[in-house]
Amino acid sequence: MADAKTDALLTPTPDDDGAPFWEYAARGELRIQACAACGELRFPPRPCCPHCQSFDSTWRKMSGRGRIWSYVFPHPPLLPAYAEQAPYNAIVVELADAPRIRLVGNLVAAPDAPLDSVAPERLRIGAKVQVVFADVGGVVVPRWILERP
Ligand code: ZN
Repeated sequence: MADAKTDALLTPTPDDDGAPFWEYAARGELRIQACAACGELRFPPRPCCPHCQSFDSTWRKMSGRGRIWSYVFPHPPLLPAYAEQAPYNAIVVELADAPRIRLVGNLVAAPDAPLDSVAPERLRIGAKVQVVFADVGGVVVPRWILERP
């Protein structure tokens, strides 16, 4: 049976702990879960603080700036929607506001640009990036652009 989803980019399936992350993303805000008791940031979102075991949390707004901590170019076999855009990158971004918090995403030329919109030779570890947001199949996801294109 044909399934349109197999031809689409993958989208997140938020759980209860992570739902606020995606709700803020939909408003164009990058927020990271923080412990309401000791203030430690944690990612991915989870119910309990690993530092003080508190179950109280808040969502702290980030500047959206970071740097490329690592990156890869996924090799085939790829899902059809991704094969069309290969070679594309997957990057790990270390947040400027919280160097121990790292998010996986894609470096693109503009929020709605295709995944292959940045040439592979442009990527380097340490490059400064800025978050942008794009609607992917009805879900707003964070992506990254170079601070100095
Ligand atoms: Zn805590």
